[in-house]
Amino acid sequence: MNFRFTLLAIALVAGSAVAQSATPSYVFPNYRNAAQADADCKALIASARADEKRLQAGQATTLLAELDGMNRRYEDIVGPLSLLNAVHPDKAVRDAADACDLGYQNFRNSFLQNPKIYALLKQVKPADDIDARLLRDTLDAFEDAGVALAPARQARAKKLSNEITRLGQLFDRRIRDDKTRVAFAPAELDGVPAEALKDRKRDATGRYVFGLDYPSYDAIIENATLGATRERMWRAFQSLGGTANLKTLQQLGQLRREYAQLFGLESYADFAMRRRMAGNAAAVQTFLGTVKDAVAQREVADLGLLREAKARDLKQSLESTTLNRWDLTYYTFSERRNRFQLDAEEFRTYFPPQASLDFVFRVAGQLFGVQFEPLHQALWHPDAQSFEVRDVASKKVLGTFFVDLYPREGKYNHAAVWSFRNPSTLVNRTPAAGLVVNFNRQGLNIDELETLLHEFGHAMHGLLSNTRYATQGGTNVQLDFVEAPSQMLEDWVYDARVLALFKEVCPSCKPAPDNLVERASKARDFAKGIAVARQHLYASYDLALYAKDAPEPMATWQRMEGATPLGHVKGSMFPAGFSHIATGYASGYYGYLWSLVLAEDLRTAFAADKLSSEVGMRYREQVLSQGSQQAPAQLMRNFLGRETNSDAFFKSLNRHND
Ligand SMILES: [Zn+2]
Repeated sequence: MNFRFTLLAIALVAGSAVAQSATPSYVFPNYRNAAQADADCKALIASARADEKRLQAGQATTLLAELDGMNRRYEDIVGPLSLLNAVHPDKAVRDAADACDLGYQNFRNSFLQNPKIYALLKQVKPADDIDARLLRDTLDAFEDAGVALAPARQARAKKLSNEITRLGQLFDRRIRDDKTRVAFAPAELDGVPAEALKDRKRDATGRYVFGLDYPSYDAIIENATLGATRERMWRAFQSLGGTANLKTLQQLGQLRREYAQLFGLESYADFAMRRRMAGNAAAVQTFLGTVKDAVAQREVADLGLLREAKARDLKQSLESTTLNRWDLTYYTFSERRNRFQLDAEEFRTYFPPQASLDFVFRVAGQLFGVQFEPLHQALWHPDAQSFEVRDVASKKVLGTFFVDLYPREGKYNHAAVWSFRNPSTLVNRTPAAGLVVNFNRQGLNIDELETLLHEFGHAMHGLLSNTRYATQGGTNVQLDFVEAPSQMLEDWVYDARVLALFKEVCPSCKPAPDNLVERASKARDFAKGIAVARQHLYASYDLALYAKDAPEPMATWQRMEGATPLGHVKGSMFPAGFSHIATGYASGYYGYLWSLVLAEDLRTAFAADKLSSEVGMRYREQVLSQGSQQAPAQLMRNFLGRETNSDAFFKSLNRHND
């Protein structure tokens, strides 16, 4: 029996908006089986139905706060389950979390079509700018769900929404539950670090068995000297999700196009872009065109350098050397060694995982005046950890942070943060967020430390937000702004003064030598043309998929990847594993590049000192704490004291250190 949720369920029936206890630290619910999740979920939907009845007979004056209360109750149950969906060792619990989310989304899709509540919303007189923004966003949500459509279209919209949620879950589940294994004989593993083989399973013939988790994949793709070994691993990775997912992706494209057409729009990209910073698909196309112009030549030059490196390595003529996709990472790493004397593996001894986590906490302490204290909660797996986040000055608990560092079967295979619980000053509610990565237990290389800081940036956005309404909390911002606070921090790991903080959290750790960091900082720009061009391809492909013709995904990918300098590799099916564009980032992948423009501009305020607590505290107050209470452009203006621009982004794009 889940004690915590039993208490909550009683509070829900009473319809109380102030069910929070006085202690703001959040206790993560301990789900031992799927039945517990099902029961909590049923209670949630029953209470949401009761809420709907009450609200439609109520008044406009309290409506915004009441809707936020419903949102909080949703977060209380579906929030932790959404994290467990990615990390719980028991597949039945992960599936129950999917079912719960699907059930609630189905309820929500019809709730947002409730004409009585919509009519009441239109009578709301906002008290101030924060209320006005929430009201506008809420009206948008109702209208985007089809509340103002004719009845037949409305019914179709609801059906389509439910089906889109179901198919998105199916797409992710096929990736998460993938059990592909790739086995290599010892002779095939030349160059792979001994640490990566140490505790690895071997099959009956003595071959080492690799899964498709990042530490396994990276160990091969970055280090295996034999092209055939890298190729086999690369091909397995490119098949993640399989042909079934390609079909699902096509259905998603068609359903989303039909959805947009119900609103008289030609494409889903047009539909989605109306609610983003960019405003419309044409603005995004123009932006992507400018990026392409800036990076095209550099990409070709970078590929030329890697091809030369391969020819040298194999002691063959340049003319007879073909650079393949599975060569890119390997020769980028080997050229970083040759040109900058930079061995990525060397970092692992300096950045042990736990010390790396303490290090990012220390960075946040310096910049944002916060501290992290370990909690000892019983969580979903012994590897998972919990921390209380406190404001150093006031000692107030600001939020609760969960971390899950290492790969295991059935766990989400990328790096991400679930900002699953948002704050509300109305009810003294503190936020909670869960950070999920898949690190090598031996230590991090500098790219992985960058990943950790990126994800930690998302967590800070959630945990340091301090909004009136949970609906506007933390990372609930426009999709093409959400990556900016995380991307901003990536840069911090290349600063020797920042890295010196490692000493304070891990006196026994050997400090990374200054000149190593300097070399890493220079090496970082090497082959950047290839990396940015790839991001450009992903963003353009995502837009093409959600354009008015909703094309067949694989043929479109073949054509678009085929037009790049390295072309398309027959038999590979990258889109089958491209979760972003099937689910939350549909026609939003460009947001990574769009946000990067903002991130680079945000960094300019820290140019003189990346550890400035004066600038850091101002950033916390003017950007992070605001969530979506103000438009992103306004947050940027408040913090920078001027309009945001793309100067820093293009300057960085054109920077060379070789
Ligand atoms: Zn991110």
